Amino acid sequence: MLEVKGILNGVVLDHIKAGKGLEVFHMLGLDKIDEAVVLLMNVDSKDLGKKDIIKIENRVDFDFNILSLIDTHITVNIIKDDKRVQKFKVEVPENIIGQINCKNPRCITNFDDYIKPTFHKYAENEKVLEYVCEFCEEITKFKK
Ligand SMILES: [Zn+2]
Repeated sequence: MLEVKGILNGVVLDHIKAGKGLEVFHMLGLDKIDEAVVLLMNVDSKDLGKKDIIKIENRVDFDFNILSLIDTHITVNIIKDDKRVQKFKVEVPENIIGQINCKNPRCITNFDDYIKPTFHKYAENEKVLEYVCEFCEEITKFKK
């Protein structure tokens, strides 16, 4: 098995569905930060068969709950001084502000830079998550 050094301080995102790691990477904007980031893909997993893992060094101030739009099973591990000090699952957010865009091409949020796209949770079941745009009421669906 591929060996990757652990991190002393930072975040380990575990149990990401195999193949979703890159989406998580972009959703958190990890291509734009200066800290060291490792993306591991198709790692063997007891529960999932295969999974992706992301390790971020020296930073923990991310909005992890937005990741539930990609995969609701992601586990967040906060590492401090080489020890895991916190472990939690991402939670489906009630509101999403400024992190995704409205897919309605005529929505005002796609024209006005001063209006932040704002969505409220509309429906949720085992398969799908739905959010409604505050401005145009367009519904955006996310597959679970
Ligand atoms: Zn809209």
